[in-house]
Amino acid sequence: MIEFRAVTKRFDDGTVAVDHLDLSVAAGTITVFVGPSGCGKTTSLRMVNRMVEPTSGTVLVDGVDVRGVDPATLRRGIGYVIQQAGLFPHRTVLDNVATVPLLSGWTRRKARARAAELLELVGLPRELGSRYPVQLSGGQQQRVGVARALAADPPVLLMDEPFSAVDPVVREGLQDELLRLQAELDKTIVFVTHDIDEAVKIGERVAVFRQGGRLVQYAEPDELLSRPADEFVSSFVGRDRGYRRLSFVEGTGIEPREVPTAREEAVAGERVAPDAWTLVLDGEDRPRGWLPPRSTGDSAPPAERVLPGGSLYTRGTPLRGALDAALSSPSGLGVVV
Ligand code: ADP
Ligand code: MG
Repeated sequence: MIEFRAVTKRFDDGTVAVDHLDLSVAAGTITVFVGPSGCGKTTSLRMVNRMVEPTSGTVLVDGVDVRGVDPATLRRGIGYVIQQAGLFPHRTVLDNVATVPLLSGWTRRKARARAAELLELVGLPRELGSRYPVQLSGGQQQRVGVARALAADPPVLLMDEPFSAVDPVVREGLQDELLRLQAELDKTIVFVTHDIDEAVKIGERVAVFRQGGRLVQYAEPDELLSRPADEFVSSFVGRDRGYRRLSFVEGTGIEPREVPTAREEAVAGERVAPDAWTLVLDGEDRPRGWLPPRSTGDSAPPAERVLPGGSLYTRGTPLRGALDAALSSPSGLGVVV
């Protein structure tokens, strides 16, 4: 559906933002581009809707080389959502969304009815339609931004860090909404983020980029976590999800005291309940050991993940058997295999 063929972008100052990118995004899927700041995610995205032209290589949308399509026509079929919703400040929320169908020739009445439908679709209460953008929270503005991007019913949606400016709790809600929306709409979505947690939650496939605009791994989230292609991916994946690093530890059991310092540091960023021992799982969700209590977490993990004696961090599958074994180990907190 979207295809990058040997795409390179070198800016005039010599910066190589994207380096020989070969990647295919399947129709009807959510594909995530993830990587640290400056690794070429935005540039890659913008070559799809011709906001940036490649230096060499080809970008195809639906089999058509985008260079042969004029930008305005191309962009009618490609919604674009960025970090700042970029709403028109002097128009109401409803009119912000209605503008798109109006511009494509709908009557005012029909356009507004369509806008109301879209606002409902993205989970905004009807009464907010008459407000102005400044009267909405950041999360609500992003929802309006998504509604507006969907207004032309484009088959493709590009989303560049759409939720990054929103606080973490609201962000989780927006992610859930997007997944729900996608189940209904079946768009081809390319979603950019620097947040690996967001990437593995949202992406059906995830492309990991590194500095210099190089794609290092393109895989399903589970594979990325359990079989990182190289040390860069494993440390990137591990930076935000310290326990995942343990899939690289040799052996079957780890005494808490023996957990390498680097890995402890990685875990320090996790939301760990201050007084809880943390059960460490590897990339296959097998328990590997316990980490001692930390006082660095600012909020406890979600209630359903708090277990007597430990906090389970997993991708959501309760591993009853493994857990029971862990909790009944002789020391209560020692090695589990
Ligand atoms: P990301 O979205 O992953 O943070 P970008 O695609 O924005 O990364 O940028 C990739 C690299 O290209 C960075 O080094 C950035 O400074 C550089 N870059 C982006 N836009 C331009 C530009 N217009 N001119 C020169 N360099 C640019
Ligand atoms: Mg960017």
